[in-house]
Amino acid sequence: MQYYSTNTPDIKVSLKEAVLRGLAPDKGLYMPVTIPKLDDDFFATIANRSLPEIAFEVLKPFFCPDIPEEIFKNIVEESLNFDIPVEQVSKDIYALELFHGPTLAFKDVGARFMARILSYFSKGQDEDITVLVATSGDTGSAVANGFYKVPGINVVVLYPKGMVSQVQEKQFTTLGHNITSVEVEGTFDDCQRMVKEAFMDDELKDTMVLTSANSINLARLLPQSVYYHHAYAQLRRAGVNEDIVFCVPSGNFGNITAGLVAQAMGLPVAKFVAATNINDIVPEYLRTGLYMPAPSKSTVANAMDVGDPSNFVRILDLFGSDHQVIKAKIEGIAFTDDQIRAGVKRIDQIHSYVLDPHGATGYLALEKKLQDGQKGVFLETAHPAKFPEVIEPVLGRKVKVPPRLQAFMNGTPKNTGINATLDALKLLLLK
Ligand SMILES: *Cc1c(COP(=O)(O)O)cnc(C)c1O
Repeated sequence: MQYYSTNTPDIKVSLKEAVLRGLAPDKGLYMPVTIPKLDDDFFATIANRSLPEIAFEVLKPFFCPDIPEEIFKNIVEESLNFDIPVEQVSKDIYALELFHGPTLAFKDVGARFMARILSYFSKGQDEDITVLVATSGDTGSAVANGFYKVPGINVVVLYPKGMVSQVQEKQFTTLGHNITSVEVEGTFDDCQRMVKEAFMDDELKDTMVLTSANSINLARLLPQSVYYHHAYAQLRRAGVNEDIVFCVPSGNFGNITAGLVAQAMGLPVAKFVAATNINDIVPEYLRTGLYMPAPSKSTVANAMDVGDPSNFVRILDLFGSDHQVIKAKIEGIAFTDDQIRAGVKRIDQIHSYVLDPHGATGYLALEKKLQDGQKGVFLETAHPAKFPEVIEPVLGRKVKVPPRLQAFMNGTPKNTGINATLDALKLLLLK
């Protein structure tokens, strides 16, 4: 498969180039030149297929034969080595629980997969690939854990001192091995600036292979299509025959884009619902046809605090920028912090299901948007125990911390501190 940049569809690049670059040189996002259709037999038998089997069939056309099938099969099996179950929450609404991976959030899927794709492309290269990421929390932990002990790759995570929650910080500072965590005397914006400067620095370019692992990378996006098929398979296996609506708590809109790709491959989806917090740029676009980015506002669902969603251009690209077409495919709805908190409390009381603040927007959106004869699945994007400061006051009790998370909390941080300058970062990278 070849890939093009959304800014210059005429220029096509290989899978390897698209993955190593992440962002295209013209600042566009890469898209596959075609979205292949899965055959009828695949959907007729999907209910009997396992997650790795589904993943292999769904992803093969994008990644093979650039990556030989046998090797690719291993990549898929190693990346998706945890459950992604569908749990019924109420009569018509189900949770697709994406928090059973190492860092208890859906970003584990894309990060684990991308790490192994990069590792494959690093073979035959003289030197290791260095992945540089700036994080305000969740991305750093998913990437660090996804790339942990993956051959041929070193990861350097930059994070702002004192501004990352303790749970998140422990998830990337305690790993060691090929993961270096760097506490920067500055803000998240400083960390991002230092990463950008490092990518443009000639001396670094000459001495090492540097790449990023941010969420616009195709190798993080495409594997997320898999769990929509897997959710569908589980529902059909459970005897659910109604039309299915997927609701996606959204920030940068990568997760929902992956769902739209699944639908374009033939997955029967009645409709998508994009749920947001008060950063309602896309719901407003759906309502008015005008895309008006704005500075992000901070909320209790902070992984969705995005004022200019990076994957929106991919959605435009998929549907020829036609507002009417996009409106027919996706409904949007936004929730305030108070609504999110009240939702978490009510669903715990009535259905004994503890939502995280992000998943809560998904459940609430389905309550509003589901029609007769439909069943809704919302993506439960993280485990509630990752957000005790939001959840516990609402529930009036402690949330149980899963053993995986507790293990991180007991670990010893192995971090380095530096000033917020490119020179300090270079000193560390060239060492
Ligand atoms: C990143 C994230 C989101 C938003 O996903 P996008 O793909 O950026 O729309 C939602 N919930 C959680 C918990 C996240 O970490």
